[in-house]
Amino acid sequence: MSDDTQYDVIVIGAGPGGLAAGMYAARAKLKSLVMEKGLPGGQINNTGLIEDYPGFTSIDARELAQKMEEHARHFGTEIRTLETTGVKKIGDIFQVETTAGAFTARTVILATGGSPIYLGCPGEAEFQKKGVSYCAICDGPLPLFRNKPMVVVGGGDSAVEEGMFLTKYASKVYLVHRRDELRASRILQDRLRENPKIELHLDSVVEKVGGSDQVEWVQIKNLKTQKVGKFDAGALFIFIGFTPNSHIVKDLVKKDEKGYILTNQNMMTSVPGLFAIGDVRRQLTRQITNAVGDGTTAAVAAEKFIHGRLQAWEQSVVG
Ligand code: NAP
Repeated sequence: MSDDTQYDVIVIGAGPGGLAAGMYAARAKLKSLVMEKGLPGGQINNTGLIEDYPGFTSIDARELAQKMEEHARHFGTEIRTLETTGVKKIGDIFQVETTAGAFTARTVILATGGSPIYLGCPGEAEFQKKGVSYCAICDGPLPLFRNKPMVVVGGGDSAVEEGMFLTKYASKVYLVHRRDELRASRILQDRLRENPKIELHLDSVVEKVGGSDQVEWVQIKNLKTQKVGKFDAGALFIFIGFTPNSHIVKDLVKKDEKGYILTNQNMMTSVPGLFAIGDVRRQLTRQITNAVGDGTTAAVAAEKFIHGRLQAWEQSVVG
């Protein structure tokens, strides 16, 4: 392969999983390209401090992203700013289409992540990284928010589970849900109601979030009484759903009903040679450590696949 549009591995997405995959692919001497339409680092760029990545009790999210990018480049992975528009398989070769033309590869690793669903209230965009968050595990334990009241929006399992998790750090958690009953499972609801640090506000919506430099208050409105209330709060956590970015392979691979890509334990999708890692695939948790582990597995599996060393059982798709 000498053409500069032909690769052994193309990784789509330069979040932690994509960068780990690129790094491992390059170490395996595969000609590899990581495509990213925005900033390398993916969703961690939406966070401030990271305290749950082994080896760093606390690290600035951008710094971690830069270290991962440098590490991948160090071993020879190319990282380019390219927006992918589609992936096709023609014979044994993948064609990856971008806004700057087509590239080909023997294997593709999809690391396109996902996006939290935004609430769209005034102040939400302005206070992202300043108290508005979509990840309790990442941001809840931060010293900046500790022992302050926190507001959680949503009525599903995520909101209830994350709300309970946040009670370890918050002085109080206000859980705000738009209907008169929660969607979360019964057992989680029972636990929630037994937790003295959670105050439930049903039939209510968050209208605004604000403060000076950081979140200082959250305004809610009761839809039945029209009464407006304002909580002093250090953080607003929004858990109203998450969408996997799987549209570029929409007709190619098997997905679940929510659009998460199904893979086997080696990250192989229903299409041989096409792998999916991190938040875009169906799995239990959505942490940086998971994505990095997935990226490692996919790169190793891609190398074996290219050299015809993946066993049949390693290729079968579960689910
Ligand atoms: P979800 O079940 O889709 O719930 C989203 C919640 O956000 C719903 O209560 C919904 O209200 C509310 N919502 C949606 N749009 C809104 C808006 N614009 N404004 C205000 N509220 C809005 O999402 P999830 O909680 O993230 O759960 C996703 C899946 O993962 C589920 O299948 C869940 O069971 C699973 N999960 C499981 C666990 C567990 O088992 N431990 C933990 C987390 C997640 P409505 O109820 O009115 O629609």
